[in-house]
Amino acid sequence: MAAAAPEPQGKYDLGFARQVYGNIDGGDKLAMCMQCGVCSGSCPIGETMDYGPRKLFMMVRAGMKEAVLKSNTIWNCVSCYNCVVRCPRQVPVTYILHDLAAMAVREGYVEARKSDNARFAKAFWWSTRKYGRSDERLITAKYYFSGGLIDGTRKGMANMKIAMAMIKAKRMHLGAPHKIKKRGELKEILAKAKEIQERQPATPEDVK
Ligand code: SF4
Ligand code: SF4
Repeated sequence: MAAAAPEPQGKYDLGFARQVYGNIDGGDKLAMCMQCGVCSGSCPIGETMDYGPRKLFMMVRAGMKEAVLKSNTIWNCVSCYNCVVRCPRQVPVTYILHDLAAMAVREGYVEARKSDNARFAKAFWWSTRKYGRSDERLITAKYYFSGGLIDGTRKGMANMKIAMAMIKAKRMHLGAPHKIKKRGELKEILAKAKEIQERQPATPEDVK
């Protein structure tokens, strides 16, 4: 039986598909989607999503901008690439979802401070930029306390047993964070990536 169509939210924006085709990383390939559903069927966390990728892409075409950019689908994707390797039309599903998330933030559809996933992403990027590595202790602490002192303490206490077990099993180290060498070079790479992103679409010169 075919899945039920999503409830329309807000106005339809008939230029949305064009906006996605022209401005989203991999968006030009979205026109190739034949709605086969292999991506949604392959997604290990599809059940946690408001809509699977197939349905989300149908909504993009229908101009349901608000529903797409407010959905948790674009935040819950864990970049496992199952969908990408299986898509018969080579649609870069993962890139599209991540860039839709960036668009949602840019256009004010997500209040970054309130979105759990956005706050976690911020903590992850903070550690990666600062140390060149993801330090699970600092990321967790930064993420937990980004929701306030009470929320952070509550989450910390709730997960204390897991943290202690990880330390005991040597899966979480104590002491100063590990850092990569030549962090200055990482900064330069990230600055270049930001510069390229700000003047999309990328030119062949960028990858030389
Ligand atoms: S697997 Fe590819 S072609 Fe099929 S619905 Fe997903 S994106 Fe579209
Ligand atoms: S990359 Fe994202 S959307 Fe694709 S299968 Fe994995 S979690 Fe699902």
